[in-house]
Amino acid sequence: MRKSSELQGYEHRRENKLMQYFNAVGIEETGQFIHLRVYQIHRLDFVKTERTYNLGNVIKKSKNNYWIVRDSTIGLTGSSCENFEVAKLNCPLLPEDESGFRTLEEALESYERSTVTVKVAQVSPVKYRDNFLAIRSLSAKDSSNKTVKIDLFGNHAEKNYAKNDVVKLTSVYKKVYRNRIQLSLSKTSDVQFMPPESLQIAIGDDDYLSDSDFEDTPLDTFKITECLGCHIYNCCDKPACYEKKLNDDGTCRTCAERPERQMKTCRATFKYLTEASRSPIQITLFKPTLSILLQENVDLTSWDTFETQIANALPICFKCKISEGKFYNITMQ
Ligand SMILES: [Zn+2]
Repeated sequence: MRKSSELQGYEHRRENKLMQYFNAVGIEETGQFIHLRVYQIHRLDFVKTERTYNLGNVIKKSKNNYWIVRDSTIGLTGSSCENFEVAKLNCPLLPEDESGFRTLEEALESYERSTVTVKVAQVSPVKYRDNFLAIRSLSAKDSSNKTVKIDLFGNHAEKNYAKNDVVKLTSVYKKVYRNRIQLSLSKTSDVQFMPPESLQIAIGDDDYLSDSDFEDTPLDTFKITECLGCHIYNCCDKPACYEKKLNDDGTCRTCAERPERQMKTCRATFKYLTEASRSPIQITLFKPTLSILLQENVDLTSWDTFETQIANALPICFKCKISEGKFYNITMQ
């Protein structure tokens, strides 16, 4: 129904590479509109509006949202939409044709990335996952009178925020976390501090969300007592793919590509005790966290070297915060 007139792109910061694609909006036989992001940029001229295509091997990113990647197929076929003219009237805009400015209420409804301007109500302390990825949450409100939790990552999480700051956040998307709908920054997001008078709303007591992330709790003491099993497996070598286990066919779960260079990673399951817990609790830890707890790089030469390394380190005592089965802000004793 619609197609980008030119290629879109974004800078893949970690890989220092320009990612290019074009967008399209199509309509399925069921009458459902779908958004497509086509990474096969040489197909820009091949794909035309008002034609019908069979799409194969696409990646479903969310409801009605698909990516066409290297292994996908785009096949021109016959037949076309019956009520094309009617459909055209209702057809959603391409992402680049929208300003993306939305209220918080609208952003929570949208499948597109949004730009929101909000007043900060609460600021969580910064947590560090695997000691390098900074994570912080804000609760914030705008003129739509919604108070929403927003997750920030990396350098955006490390900025200083205070109650009543007005910030503009670009490229935020909705996500469901702990059964609550909220917003999150994306890899292409930017955060800009705005003049306080640019959003004339007051933060009241009702605008505070009850959420443990906003409490500044002290670090707890942990002791890992035993290892229940460890596993070494191959993953994609791109940092942005977070060392997820490859699919059976050798493709990456995150970028969907077949990595040129496979990398070994690991996970191990442990039992630990805290001051408050009488019985041991089970946790699965991955390579970045394991390297911190072992205080050296994980040795994945063989299963045996890995196991010996763990055996030599046990028991492991440290302080940290725990949230959703993950250790944050680990401080070794
Ligand atoms: Zn990957």
